[in-house]
Amino acid sequence: MTISALMPVYPRCDVRPVKGDHCHLIDEDGTRYLDFASGIAVNLLGHSHPALIGAIQRQAETLMHVSNLYGSPQGEELAQMLVDKTFADTVFFTNSGAEAVECAIKTARAYHQSAGNTDKFEIITFTNAFHGRTMATISASNQKKMHTGFMPLLAGFKYAEFDDLESAKALMGPNTAGFLVEPIQGEGGIRPASAEFMQGLRQLCDENDLMLVLDEVQCGVARTGKLYAYEHYGIEPDIMATAKGIGGGFPLGACLATEKAARGMVFGTHGSTYGGNPLAMAAGKAVMDTVANDEFLAKVRELGDRLRSRLEQFIGNYPELFELVRGEGLMLGLKMKVESRPFFVHLRDNHQLLTVAAGDNTLRVLPPLVIGDAEIDEFMDKLSAGAASYESPEG
Ligand SMILES: *Cc1c(COP(=O)(O)O)cnc(C)c1O
Repeated sequence: MTISALMPVYPRCDVRPVKGDHCHLIDEDGTRYLDFASGIAVNLLGHSHPALIGAIQRQAETLMHVSNLYGSPQGEELAQMLVDKTFADTVFFTNSGAEAVECAIKTARAYHQSAGNTDKFEIITFTNAFHGRTMATISASNQKKMHTGFMPLLAGFKYAEFDDLESAKALMGPNTAGFLVEPIQGEGGIRPASAEFMQGLRQLCDENDLMLVLDEVQCGVARTGKLYAYEHYGIEPDIMATAKGIGGGFPLGACLATEKAARGMVFGTHGSTYGGNPLAMAAGKAVMDTVANDEFLAKVRELGDRLRSRLEQFIGNYPELFELVRGEGLMLGLKMKVESRPFFVHLRDNHQLLTVAAGDNTLRVLPPLVIGDAEIDEFMDKLSAGAASYESPEG
């Protein structure tokens, strides 16, 4: 037998964390890493936040799981919090981002098809998008590397150019059900859509009775300094997927929708055994209690501005390595002039700094939202030392 016990789909590295401590990870042999990856935008509150630990402990002792056939006081409470703080009127809880996007796609199709428009099924998505790894969500992305070996794709997706309204318009037709877009592409390289683009999509949806579906799995939940990134654009979606940060590390996602958009999601149309279980609800509520308030969000914006200006100053010292800084709040990307992956490995292995590689030669900087000046200083020290000691394999 040569296959590993863990199905070998990830190129796992030698960092083997066994403990978390606020914004640091400690691995098997005791090495401490500064974690500016946050489990890919998941650990909003860092690794040992007392409110999150306490909420999970208390709920685990009380009631861990029941079927969705029973009433859910825990689910009602978290759903109401999300309804109160967002565009949405109704929430379906999932266990992951891909499932939240799946529910969003189904909701958009059902909006039309439940009203008799059975030919409306096509969702227009955008180049370099990432929506997850299920069959529907890989079909929603134009990235070939996720398709190979898994053909045929699910029908009903068309890919327009990201941030290009004309390209989106050109793909519209009698089968169009709506658009699915990340306001700030994560995996694609921390690429924010422009306000004109997002407002243009909203207008196309309004004029043609289409669903604007946002994938805020990575950019949502206070990451950008607003509870959800759509708030930066002065628009509201019809349907939105959220996950990653919302459980703070506990697996949790959700599909949010307006009452109108959810008109097809009636009894028996959708479900999940684990979705919305009391333990997940306790985690989500602890995260929302901490981050969904003006004071916390203002702090994220302030920290984001500080980190960004430090980064902008810093890249001036290495014009041969770095091109620009982009992103919003604490969702930042360093676009490099050389391949970003070897630099990301160098920071990890030689400077104990964890970031995330992304498309478009971009290094993702996604710290826990609870960093302070000490962590920003430590990050800049490690990054500076990493840049100074870096010998690019490209020469
Ligand atoms: C991570 C991610 C997903 C998929 O989430 P999973 O929890 O891995 O299924 C979907 N969309 C975006 C934008 C993501 O960043």
